[in-house]
Amino acid sequence: MKKLLILFFIPILALSQQKRLSESLFAEYETYKEPSLTQREFTHSDIEPLIKKLKTEEGFSVRTLGKSIQNRSISMISIGSGKTNILLWSQMHGDESTATMAIFDIFNYLKKNKKILNDITLHFIPMLNPDGAEVFKRRNAIGIDLNRDALRLQSPESKILKAARDSLQADFGFNLHDQSKYYNTEKTNKPATISYLAPAYNYAKSINKTRKNAMKIIIQMNDIIQQYAPGQVGRYSDDFEPRAFGDNIQKWGTSTILIESGGYKNDPEKQFIRKLNFVSILAAIQSISIKSYENISIKKYDEIPKNDRKLFDVKFTNIAFTYLRKNYTVDLGINTNKIESNSYQTGLIIDKGDLSTYYGYQTIDGKGLTFNIGKAYPKILSNTTDFEKLNCKELLQQGYTSVVFDSIPENINLTKQPIKIMTVQDVVIKRENTVPNSPLQLGSKPTFLLTKGGKLFYAVIDGFVYDFTK
Ligand SMILES: [Zn+2]
Repeated sequence: MKKLLILFFIPILALSQQKRLSESLFAEYETYKEPSLTQREFTHSDIEPLIKKLKTEEGFSVRTLGKSIQNRSISMISIGSGKTNILLWSQMHGDESTATMAIFDIFNYLKKNKKILNDITLHFIPMLNPDGAEVFKRRNAIGIDLNRDALRLQSPESKILKAARDSLQADFGFNLHDQSKYYNTEKTNKPATISYLAPAYNYAKSINKTRKNAMKIIIQMNDIIQQYAPGQVGRYSDDFEPRAFGDNIQKWGTSTILIESGGYKNDPEKQFIRKLNFVSILAAIQSISIKSYENISIKKYDEIPKNDRKLFDVKFTNIAFTYLRKNYTVDLGINTNKIESNSYQTGLIIDKGDLSTYYGYQTIDGKGLTFNIGKAYPKILSNTTDFEKLNCKELLQQGYTSVVFDSIPENINLTKQPIKIMTVQDVVIKRENTVPNSPLQLGSKPTFLLTKGGKLFYAVIDGFVYDFTK
């Protein structure tokens, strides 16, 4: 009887222990956050000094596994001496750096907290594709997607990952990536802030013990993320990809967990998502260490909503416009471009029509609002002083959406001025057109106003939305 009671209580105790850990990690995150990494774009030379410093930290060992095509070192940092080996690799895709930042936060945690290492050894490869990271691009220096090179192993970076996995015979593997912020959780307007996958190791998508253990860890991580980003966890399609690392590493006997960091509202540098990585990866490590995952039923894995890709930055609904004297009503999906060097933000029309199955980080209903493309300010400008004298917000209220220069001065400062800049030439070409284009062309940067009773509600300038309702 006594034995039965113990068997019954151990999993519950372990689970509450995990909850406590994740709550304290979340609360104390700032203590561990690596202060030298503050934004998504950083390079090998930014993390090298951090790795070098770890060599002097007690319990840490740093090994150079090899060099990238452009001769940058690829390091593995190991901590612990337990018999269960956990391998974590990040930035196989050079522009997917969220988990890399979290790894350096995890190092700061592990400098002070070794208890979690009970029975396990951790091995981190923080930046597998430093050449891609150098230019913040997905692929490596010869243009290969490392995640399609698991079998041919043409790139040194791929060989390094395979050799690390094989030499460790890792029990668990964390395959750390970023996904587009336009992924949502199926049939909701919520971004898939984190998506998971226990990759299949064959076309039949069989579930053996290796894959089952990955699913169990994912179920636990999902429970944790749900507390901080409710409804914002997606499950990746488990279609087998025979060339990918995740699928093959699962096949080679390492329980592999794919983590994709997606989008979160008002988090362009993904610093909150970095925090979620920090909390959930450490909680998963603890789970492996104390084996709290073992008793979990994998039934809950399929209950995690699927990933979908149906988000826009801004979705407009019910935009009514007239073209060649006929009326049309459409929805618009607009994605904002990355802020350009002069801080002038723009956006593109990605889709148009009935977008009722799509969602937006921001949704604006145009019903009852009057659409018009606005006028050009009548005075032709010839220098920046003329431009700086204008109050662009007032111009918008008066129905002007653009200003016209005879030629655009080189030193013009457009910073955050909500007005479209045109040249005399642009206007002349427009007038020569016999059949004008319909407004709101797909792929264009749209400029228009939405008003009601003469009052301005929204101005959209080169695809960027200015809200006048507030
Ligand atoms: Zn990736």
